[in-house]
Amino acid sequence: MHNLKEMKELRKYIMFEHKDKAHINSLGEFGLIEHLTKSFTITKKETKQSIGDDAAIIDCGGKQQVISTDMLIENIHFDLMYAPLVHVGYKAIASNVSDICAMNVKASQVLVSIAISSKYSLQAVEELYVGVRAACEKYDLELIGGDTSTSVTGLVISITVIGYADEKYIVKRSGAKVGDLICVSGDLGGAYMGLQVLEREKQVFLESKDMQPDLEGKDYIVGRQLRPEARKDIIDLLEELQVIPSSMIDISDGLSSELFHLSKNSNVGVKIYEDKVPIDQQTYDTALEFNLSPTTCAMNGGEDYELLFTITQKDYDKIKNSMDLSVIGYCTDEHEGRELITKSGNVVPLEAQGWENFKSFE
Ligand code: ADP
Ligand code: MG
Repeated sequence: MHNLKEMKELRKYIMFEHKDKAHINSLGEFGLIEHLTKSFTITKKETKQSIGDDAAIIDCGGKQQVISTDMLIENIHFDLMYAPLVHVGYKAIASNVSDICAMNVKASQVLVSIAISSKYSLQAVEELYVGVRAACEKYDLELIGGDTSTSVTGLVISITVIGYADEKYIVKRSGAKVGDLICVSGDLGGAYMGLQVLEREKQVFLESKDMQPDLEGKDYIVGRQLRPEARKDIIDLLEELQVIPSSMIDISDGLSSELFHLSKNSNVGVKIYEDKVPIDQQTYDTALEFNLSPTTCAMNGGEDYELLFTITQKDYDKIKNSMDLSVIGYCTDEHEGRELITKSGNVVPLEAQGWENFKSFE
């Protein structure tokens, strides 16, 4: 127990923290990571890549190991009003496997840690693990450990995924060169539009409990939000086509933001063509229904877990017939910046497309 003097000290500290909050928010997620980690140094020769890519790389003498970890928090990353626990478990694994795919590696082992509050029944946690198991089977992953604890409120899931590959196959965010083609897998903006639909139906339900959610014709985008897939199939495809991208990142925070990371880490500029950005018809129609620009949703909507990568021009012929890959632009000199060429031919800086307060602090 604290005595009164200690409690006063503590209060002063908390008040100070409170005043400081604006500063934390102004740093943003990446600024905060940088702020907290800048005084840490890497000296071990085995540490080939530390903070700053989709996964860290460790040289194991022979193969290299890639490791990535992520945390999902109830009511920040998922809402049990509309996300079944089985999907939450699946998505937790898939989103982490996606970070390993982003290194051009196939994940092989996983550790799963959970903190659960007293509102969770055994059956509920079992359901979560049905999803975890389904994802382990889908991505050929072995569950090798984790941790279990209690939380005051809600559910926390922390996942660590590990994969191995020969050094020559591992792709970082930093290898793109001027003239390289910029490619994406699948289509974009669907997960974000799925979330908009689910949020709308949640509000309708909260206002009138008799109303049934109307998800008619929204199955694809709702699926993209609730049960996304990591694009391990694209890693298999690239292997089959004998293409090793020059750089790669997964699209978890939106294409615009990932292009920013990729170009910053590779010291190149990017030119993206709006008419080449792949958008599914259902995403397109739903964006219009919500009075949103489909392009803005595709550029800035998060959680698509598609892969964004660059290839040398000489590899174009190898990928040009792959229906699931789109070439959306190319890398330019760094000083040319990051640009979007709109359908009408206007050139707009990529950052200007972003919605400033769009992303929560995740
Ligand atoms: P991703 O979106 O690909 O999961 P993040 O944006 O979460 O990656 O993280 C960016 C980088 O910062 C990664 O290399 C990650 O390991 C590292 N990182 C994130 N949070 C922390 C932290 N609290 N301490 C140290 N490193 C961190
Ligand atoms: Mg990532």
